[in-house]
Amino acid sequence: MSAPISRIVEALEPSATIAMAGKARELKATGRTVCDLSLGEPDFDTPAHIRKAALEAMDSGFTHYTAAGGIVELKTAVVGQYNARHGLDYAPAQVVVSNGAKHALHNAFTVLLNPGDEVIIPAPYWVSYAELVKLTGAVPVIVQTEQAADFKLTPDQLREATTDRTRILLLCSPSNPTGSMYSPEELGELADVVIEKDLVVVADEIYEYLVYEPHQFASFPTVRPGLMDRTILINGVSKTYAMTGWRIGWSLSPLYLAKAMGSLQSQQTSCPCSISQKAAIAALEGPQECIGEMLAEFTRRRQFVIERIASIPGLSCPEMGGAFYAYINIKEHLGRTYGGVQVDDSSAWCLELLNQQNVATVMGSAFGTDGYSRISFATSMENLEAAFDGIEKFIASE
Ligand code: PMP
Ligand code: GLU
Repeated sequence: MSAPISRIVEALEPSATIAMAGKARELKATGRTVCDLSLGEPDFDTPAHIRKAALEAMDSGFTHYTAAGGIVELKTAVVGQYNARHGLDYAPAQVVVSNGAKHALHNAFTVLLNPGDEVIIPAPYWVSYAELVKLTGAVPVIVQTEQAADFKLTPDQLREATTDRTRILLLCSPSNPTGSMYSPEELGELADVVIEKDLVVVADEIYEYLVYEPHQFASFPTVRPGLMDRTILINGVSKTYAMTGWRIGWSLSPLYLAKAMGSLQSQQTSCPCSISQKAAIAALEGPQECIGEMLAEFTRRRQFVIERIASIPGLSCPEMGGAFYAYINIKEHLGRTYGGVQVDDSSAWCLELLNQQNVATVMGSAFGTDGYSRISFATSMENLEAAFDGIEKFIASE
């Protein structure tokens, strides 16, 4: 017997970032040497003092269920960090700690959306946003932004895309996949429309620490008064502290939404991992030098990536103000044959690059804009050098 899958789940696209990383892993298992630039996760080990806190948690028996929305010490550390960095005054009860930022996003959409509601998502967008919205029965409204505008949504575009069904604007700055960042002024102009149209903003700030000079990060609720009442902030330890596998992320939101997300989570997952929560406290409250060290290494790699992209004819990318991705425009290299294979779109381009040169990247179509290929430079310099040699050879084989 083959039972029918629910219509909502059947319509779901699997995560392309995770799928490409899976393909790279499969090829590696066959003995091929693959340069994997697909998955966006820091290649560094989680710093030693954070690992030690987890060991201590286990040894002291902190291995049971916790409060559904996370332990008060971690919530207090989160609000302390937002207060110190951005002057935002949240109470610990406004924090919900989840199994990664992805889970926090899912919670946010689930408590706010009904079938038929609309969520405005500027494209290119991170692969999971639209699918998480669809899981609620709501409708992702994709608004194309332009490379010439550094892939940033304009207030006019936002106004035009808003209907009486629009509930949420999704913002991600620094952006995955493009690395582009909104200035405080640009956020302020979007906030004016948000207020005028009475929208909620889900602001994904997971890359807030990974910002390159001279760019400046501004947390969304700081740009206009009153925005805390209509914003759900998403953040976590995955990227900042190289803790992707620990699965700790969180939201900060108005109390009534935090309560709703806490109830939801109590039925979904019971609580986030107790041991990882203790590790996350050590991350937030321990020495912060590890962030600067990782950022210095990302800065070096970013420079290398910018130079290599500029040196290959027909490739370009928007300026990366933050995060660790380059969103490479490959349009001039489509509609050609590579090693006898016709390549017309970004999906075929990325698959042939992987097949022919063992370089794994993610197709722009997965982020809502064809004609691009995303690379993650959260990988070793050696890997990046080999990958760009492969890209160069691939393009020379057209
Ligand atoms: N938001 C963005 C923009 C991301 O790139 C990611 C990638 N992991 C997430 C959220 C999810 O983070 P986590 O691994 O903590 O679930
Ligand atoms: N966010 C990372 C990426 O975009 C990790 C994978 C995922 O969760 O999509 O590659």
